[in-house]
Amino acid sequence: MQLTELDGTVLNAAWSVEQDGDLLAIILESAGGKTKTGASRNSDYTRALVLLISRLRELGAVIEDALVDSAQTASLSEADRRLIDAPLPLATTTASDEEIRLLLTRKQGRIGMHPDARKSGNERKRLRLRVAVPGYTPELLARDLSGDVESPVEKMLLTLDALNVQRSPDGTSKRHQPLTLLWAIGRAVEGKARQVPWREARTVIASLIDDFGHPTDSPKNAHLPFLALAGSGLWELSATPPAKGKHGDPRLRWLNTHPGTTGGLTEESHQLFAGSRLAVSTAVDRLLLDHFDGTDERPLLTAVGLGTTAPAVEARRRTAYTGKLGYDVVVLRRGEQHVLRRLLLARGASQCALCGAELPERLLVAAHIKKRTACDERERRDLDNVAMLACTLGCDSLYEHGYIGISDDGVVELSPELLGHPHLNEHARRLAGRPVAAWTGSSRDYFAWHAANVFRAQARDEPRQDG
Ligand SMILES: [Zn+2]
Repeated sequence: MQLTELDGTVLNAAWSVEQDGDLLAIILESAGGKTKTGASRNSDYTRALVLLISRLRELGAVIEDALVDSAQTASLSEADRRLIDAPLPLATTTASDEEIRLLLTRKQGRIGMHPDARKSGNERKRLRLRVAVPGYTPELLARDLSGDVESPVEKMLLTLDALNVQRSPDGTSKRHQPLTLLWAIGRAVEGKARQVPWREARTVIASLIDDFGHPTDSPKNAHLPFLALAGSGLWELSATPPAKGKHGDPRLRWLNTHPGTTGGLTEESHQLFAGSRLAVSTAVDRLLLDHFDGTDERPLLTAVGLGTTAPAVEARRRTAYTGKLGYDVVVLRRGEQHVLRRLLLARGASQCALCGAELPERLLVAAHIKKRTACDERERRDLDNVAMLACTLGCDSLYEHGYIGISDDGVVELSPELLGHPHLNEHARRLAGRPVAAWTGSSRDYFAWHAANVFRAQARDEPRQDG
């Protein structure tokens, strides 16, 4: 399986998911040595493990057991290969992703070694994590953990993001479409038919609008979401309604004279919600945050058949951003990227924080100053300081891979490793000594983390590890 980071970087790490008794097992292959092509084998083992932990946390998983699972240690009992003493419920533990990663790797060095061995061994051995993630099959878990930017959940989120919801005169968004979608998602979860005839749908949608809409949302407008959602990509109708004319809207009359016209989720969306708990809690969380601020959520979820989803949604809240920017979704890297980028661009200049170039917005990405997977919850929410705009013409990569760092007085420093890469050096040299606008009293600690953990302050070789 591939493992893709927030910014689309595919990690060099081999992993898989399989059934393991009642649990699922995530197998992370060992790192070290060279492959036949001369590349370093699974050199992103550590980053991959932190990323998997972070994503498992957002799924509310419990790490029930963790074992070294290498061929060399196969003769040892499980007890002798065990890395944790007790199950780790990731949603509630206070340990950071990095602390959990350390817990899982630190002990590995001694496993399978002679008790008198003076040096400890590889800490990046083949690892078996037994996890409890209710409702997940191995395939589904692999998909949700992979961070594949083309994942169906991400596509669905982007669709929700683009939902064309009308505004009331007081500025609040009309709840017709979100309510209708919640109801349809509830039907998918409950295994009900995907498409519903208008004659049935209208009473249900009307009563949802009546009970949970804004005071200005009229139950008489139940036809509006039923029709309008067809433009969202999530919804389809069995027949095409007439166009809105200059002299009024013929569509309600048309629907009422064709009450057998069905509407509902597309096959693809219906299957997604029927099969992925993550898709459901992500969509529900998103719709609630964007459209139902301040509404008592439990009665609403119960009314649309999503009562059982409420605990999952609430668990998400404990680990996600809060407030209007409230989605920090495991596979929705691009969705989050999108939010950060929008926020940074809204500040004004479309300028790369590192080289200072003024560029078209499409060439600027939101770069985490401190790697997102190393951030704790408070830091992840610190959107004003934890990220900067960097250009895709080189700055983003140079920074991410540690070829440049920011000194404690806020200027760009070059890694001595650049000397071994003349082309890269040529590219980076013009940045040396540049003051970085994103460096402030509030972002300073994030830059310091990068300087200590990512910046290649000394030329270093590829780490050597035994199997
Ligand atoms: Zn730049």
